[in-house]
Amino acid sequence: MEDYKSYIGGEWKAAKSGADFEVRNPFDNSLLCKVADCNAEDLKEAIDHASKAHASWKKSTPRERSALLRKIGDLMMRDQDKLAKVLTLENGKPLGEAKGEVGFGATFFHWFAEESRRAYGETIPSPAPGVSFTTVQEPLGVAAMITPWNFPIGMPARKISAALAAGCSCVVKPAEDTPLSTLELMKLIEEAGAPTGLVNIVPCSRNSVKEVGDAMCADPRVAVISFTGSTEVGKYLYAKCADTVKRVALELGGNAPFIIFDSADVDAAVSGLITSKFRNTGQTCVTANRILIQAGIYDRILDNILPKIKAMKIGNGMESGVEQGPLINERQQARVKRIVDESLNAGAKLVLGGKVLDNGFEPTVLTDVQRGMACWEEEIFGPVLSIMKFTEESEAVDHANDCDRGLAAFFYSKDPGQIHRVSSALESGMVGANHVGISMPESPFGGYKTSGIGKEGSKHGLAEYSNIKLVVQNFN
Ligand code: ADP
Repeated sequence: MEDYKSYIGGEWKAAKSGADFEVRNPFDNSLLCKVADCNAEDLKEAIDHASKAHASWKKSTPRERSALLRKIGDLMMRDQDKLAKVLTLENGKPLGEAKGEVGFGATFFHWFAEESRRAYGETIPSPAPGVSFTTVQEPLGVAAMITPWNFPIGMPARKISAALAAGCSCVVKPAEDTPLSTLELMKLIEEAGAPTGLVNIVPCSRNSVKEVGDAMCADPRVAVISFTGSTEVGKYLYAKCADTVKRVALELGGNAPFIIFDSADVDAAVSGLITSKFRNTGQTCVTANRILIQAGIYDRILDNILPKIKAMKIGNGMESGVEQGPLINERQQARVKRIVDESLNAGAKLVLGGKVLDNGFEPTVLTDVQRGMACWEEEIFGPVLSIMKFTEESEAVDHANDCDRGLAAFFYSKDPGQIHRVSSALESGMVGANHVGISMPESPFGGYKTSGIGKEGSKHGLAEYSNIKLVVQNFN
């Protein structure tokens, strides 16, 4: 595989320091390539270019923005197979999932190609005779983005498309484990004819990330930071942005409850749970993390789900039929092991799995889980089902809400009254009732509580990159 450079001001460039870092395949730890390791100097240059590009892009018409966005989405679909292979090589997820993610990313470019033309203002009923009150939406300016390794093309696509649609320019720092998909996306943005400096990519290693992140937060020309990643880093960046009073959009960790009530359709609930828990080997922020099953249906759900989990094919995401890939890195593997071990020591029961694999973790089922156990309180980010039995609806809702996170929550029930009551009671930004597919360009994706600030996708996603300007005109 070729080595990759950064993309700054319309050019592929080595880091100013000459440094680079290695990107490895999480399945076998083989070296894929080296990537330019940018520092604060490279970032500054990227912001210089993004500022210049913004000065003209903000004057582009919505139709011009729309045409560029549509073209990028079309090119992603043209190269879907190629992009998916790069994604699987660096992230490990099964090729079918990677292909789905490329399609997911393309739909955001297509969606925001349309939304850019619908950035309406308002005409406000005037409180004064002969004076008009109107609003317009204006782009914020340079948007800086920090993206995670679990959706290396979906997350940058979701952010870049919204920012460009609003009229912003972009400086993107992809995750150090998975920068290649973002750099491949950049090649398509370039091919689509994006103006020089409109989108810049500054990859960097874990060693340089604090320097680059701090410089992004400190630079007054950056108007907004959009971050998807851990709650710890999100809180750190939020505090760092206070000095320059930046807009922040934070999509942070979750700890999703997944409740199965007695009235649920067993097949639908089991299929939803498997999809939610095991997609990307459990490494998603909306994955089912705290499983609550009502006593009357408990045995049927376990009898149904255990053989399906046992039959899962684990291996190299590039091989057909593989459903569970590796975990992203050793840090993540050690974390999953620690959480499982601590939970077992605290009294959880191991029903399935539990072993560390060469490059990942066996699909694992823990029952008799209690509040306070690591697998309940922490976001596992691995293929581990932590199950608690309950009897009353109110008990399940209490357990679900007893958490400082509030990203997604899911439940299965066929009782309409219960569906209404529980949807209203759950304290989370997204609720899936009898459905786990919640993340689409049409959906406002975002959390309550410490799961974040702001929404991505939908018409609200455009607002994250826009200012509302009030224009008052006196015609007297
Ligand atoms: P994880 O622990 O799952 O890798 P992180 O929140 O650490 O989650 O990583 C998400 C993104 O945040 C990555 O792109 C990573 O490089 C970046 N990141 C990590 N630490 C910092 C930091 N101090 N400043 C800016 N970005 C950071």
